[in-house]
Amino acid sequence: MKERVERVRTALASQGLDALFIAKAENRRYLSGFTGSAGVLIITPEEALLATDFRYYEQVKMQAPDFTLVEVTGPVVKTLAEQVSRLGLRRVGFESHVVTVDTYQEWQREMPSVEWVPTKNIVESLRMVKDAQEMEAIIEAVRIADEAMVHLMEWLRPGKTEREIAWELEVHMRTHGAEKLSFAAIVGSGPNGAMSHAVPSDRPVGIGDPLVIDMGAMVRGYCSDLTRSFCLGEASEEYLTIWHTVLEAQQAAEAAVRPGLAGAALDGVARQVIEQAGYGEKFGHGLGHGVGLEIHEGPSAGRLSEDTLAEGHVVTIEPGIYLPGWGGVRIEDMVLVTEDGCRILTQSPKVPVIPWPRD
Ligand code: ZN
Ligand code: ZN
Repeated sequence: MKERVERVRTALASQGLDALFIAKAENRRYLSGFTGSAGVLIITPEEALLATDFRYYEQVKMQAPDFTLVEVTGPVVKTLAEQVSRLGLRRVGFESHVVTVDTYQEWQREMPSVEWVPTKNIVESLRMVKDAQEMEAIIEAVRIADEAMVHLMEWLRPGKTEREIAWELEVHMRTHGAEKLSFAAIVGSGPNGAMSHAVPSDRPVGIGDPLVIDMGAMVRGYCSDLTRSFCLGEASEEYLTIWHTVLEAQQAAEAAVRPGLAGAALDGVARQVIEQAGYGEKFGHGLGHGVGLEIHEGPSAGRLSEDTLAEGHVVTIEPGIYLPGWGGVRIEDMVLVTEDGCRILTQSPKVPVIPWPRD
């Protein structure tokens, strides 16, 4: 944690800031260890403060020993203003992508001597490279999702509804070590699978229906993200063609991952395979995204990405093809960018058809 704060201080120096205020929960947690839902970090070249209210005093002492607790007893802005004048802060950076207009105006009003400097992604860019401790949590989250997917493939039978499937996954993950889901499971059967973020419905799954299942577990704040697509019992020729195209696109991208590759270029590797198969128009989202304390974080591996992959990044590779009225196929792995390529973290089997009846 101390090292992380030092890296923020380096960024402060390079941007000529006296301090950085951090209010985003994941950034607060990343730098301090504090998991509470309210609080502001004040990081200066010499000090690391955590201002929060009565509910969290004990928690801060336990979780964030490197930070000095500043007790908030009235309006938060009053406490912040006291610290600003005590420390003589002039140029203060804040997370312009997080702080609301109301809060910003309040800060301006109550701390008129401060020059507020909007910053974007100072902490987020540090978070892209995962350390060993973070990888341990991520790998556990990936394993829990993998085990739930394998369980589901054995449990599934015709007539189960999308909601029942989502619940079965949730129960399995939460009884096998997940503190919660990294997001509400997406289960899209038949035509619903054409919506890449389908909300589970009461639609029962029938033989031959395309099924898209996208879910993940959270372990010590870290997310996993996993998608598999298959049919139960049998699949049409068209389904098999589309499924194999998506798999080929994913494998091409996974083989291309290496440090120094642009996120947009990686997207292009998968997109080319899908375009050549004639489905280019049907791959309407980016290839992948970083995963960590947030389910979607940097770096992006989409068409519009301006990020470049580096060793220690964790990204998803999730090409998809969606045909309205018919359904969809998406296959998603998480990979760790390594010195000379990547390590595929996800282990769930990739099969286009789950046998039914089972012997
Ligand atoms: Zn996903
Ligand atoms: Zn994803």
